[in-house]
Formats: sequence, C-alpha cells, structure tokens
Amino acid sequence: MPSAAIRAQLQDRLEDLHARHAASGHDGVEKVYDERRGMYPPEEAGDELDRLAIAITTVDGETFAVGDHDVPFSLQSMSKVFSYALALGRHDSDELADTVGVEPSGDAFNSITFDERHHRPFNPMVNAGALATTSLAAGDTPEERLDAILGVMRACAGDQGLHADEETAAAELRAADHNRATAYLMRAEGMIEGDVEELLGLYLRQCSVHVTCSTLSTMAATLANGCVHPTTGDRAVPADRVRDLLSVMYTCGMYDSTGEWAYDVGLPAKSGVSGGILVVVPGKMGIGVWSPGLDAYGNSARGVAICEEISKKLGLHLFATDDEDRLTVEATGD
Ligand code: GLU
Repeated sequence: MPSAAIRAQLQDRLEDLHARHAASGHDGVEKVYDERRGMYPPEEAGDELDRLAIAITTVDGETFAVGDHDVPFSLQSMSKVFSYALALGRHDSDELADTVGVEPSGDAFNSITFDERHHRPFNPMVNAGALATTSLAAGDTPEERLDAILGVMRACAGDQGLHADEETAAAELRAADHNRATAYLMRAEGMIEGDVEELLGLYLRQCSVHVTCSTLSTMAATLANGCVHPTTGDRAVPADRVRDLLSVMYTCGMYDSTGEWAYDVGLPAKSGVSGGILVVVPGKMGIGVWSPGLDAYGNSARGVAICEEISKKLGLHLFATDDEDRLTVEATGD
C-alpha cells in the first residue's frame, strides 16, 4: 500500500484533474458514440458529452476513483485485449503468427487492409486482427466461446458477473456491415474459417461487455501485476505471454495515433469507441478513463489529455527519467 499521505495526495490530485478537465470544454471532440444511436456529431450531443470518470488501481488492489466511475459503458475495442489474451494462453507464438501479426498498421481500426507480405491481419488490436483472434476462442457453441473470452475478462476484473449487454450487442449487429464485409473477405482469403455470422455475433458481444471505470482500472491493474489479479490472485494470462500482450498494446493499442500516444504517454494501453481507455503501468498500477467525446482517431479526447497529464505528473512514461513533479505511488510498507 502507498502511505496514507500519498493516498490522500493521489485522491486530491485526481479530484483536481477531474475538476479541471470537466470544465475544459470539448476541444478536439469530432464525434460522439452512443450504444443505441451509434456515432453522431458533438452538436447533437446532450449531457452525455459531459460524462467523465478517472480511476487508478494500484497493484495492491486499492482503487482511487473520481467522477462517473460507477456508470457502466461498453468495452468495445478494449475487449480486443482480452480475446488476444485468451489466444495467447492457448497458442504459442508460431501458431499465432499464422493467424495475426504484431505490426502496427498505421490505418484506422476498421480498415480493410491486410499485411500482404504475410497474408494476415496486421495486429490483434485492429478489427480484422480481433476477428481473427476471436475466431480462435474454443467452445462447442457461441455461448461457450463467449464464456471463454468472458473468463479472461472476469479474471482480470475479479468480477464473475461481467457479461455482454444484449441490447448493445443488438445495436452493434444492426450497424455491422463494415465488420461483416471484413470478415467475409477474410474468409474468402483463407484468413479465418467457419460461420462468419456466428463469428460476427461473438465479436460484437465481446465488444458489448459493460464495465464501470473502476472495473476498467482494476482490469488494467491486473495486467500491470503480471496478469494476476491484485486481490483474488487469479492468473488471467500465462506468465510467459504477458510481455506479448503488453508489447502489442504498446505498439498498436490507440488506433492510428498509437505512435503519438507512445511518445506522449509512454504506456501500453487500449482505447474503445465508447470513450474508455485502459492504461497499464507495469508493476505499479492500472488506469481507467472514460469520456465519450472522441477525437479524429476515435480515442476519447479528454481521456488522452488526462492520461498525458497523469503520466507526466506521476512520472509514468516508461522511458522518462526527468519528471520533476513526480508522485511516487509505490509500496512503502506502512
Ligand atoms: N464494436 C466496434 C466495432 O468493431 C468497436 C469499435 C471500437 O471500439 O473501435 O466496430
């Protein structure tokens, strides 16, 4: 546990961060996503644009949270982390390399482009790659396959109740033509096998799992803790595959602005179109942020700004050595 003084200081800093960003307007917001309405321009948004939550969970399992941290939203693309984690646990690197690469694509998340040299999707964090890793989930029925993915999510969250929100999944399915086209093309190219509609349904249900921001930061803390849940001790990913997961999040997790994110924030992360960002500070903590206004890349605009500030203020950038205002949130023994 951090000392009592550090804990109080951390909570104060989060409150201050939240207050400033809540008052900062919506600069950089180009679109808003709603689980029922899909994507729409910020001019058409109401109060939902003001939702904002920030949570930090230490690798000891203590959560500090501010704002709308107990309001549920869907994982969307953040779910790709967990289907990839499941695949890592079941397939060695050579087997997985036949299905999906580990190369940033530089393209939008839903781009229908492939790594032509290797004839596979570029990486598991773009839609094509996620469809490929989701297709590896084992089970005799779609329910069993979803349960396998949920198993990893639940182990990370320490919450056996996590489940797909069926209304969200139904709305996703109504707007799934792009993903459908991607999946059929992949099957025609021999990149996936089996029933495409079933795979699409499975993928969209994994995207529709609801979490709160506090749960998101706990899931991130598990990843930060070598993929072992801080309090239950459940292991979500084999120890020798943790580096694979975090490396791909680091190089591919923030759509086509991952390079900028790596430069500015310097941490493995994954964003989702719901406005959530899950950030891993290896060995230290998980961070969850949620704000539904999205920038041009599809990342939460406030979320990115907040993570930049947290990384700088807590000195978390993996390669930084010079942060002056650093607040050390490590165990002190008291
Ligand atoms: N359900 C979304 C899709 O695949 C997820 C998008 C995202 O969060 O990037 O289209």
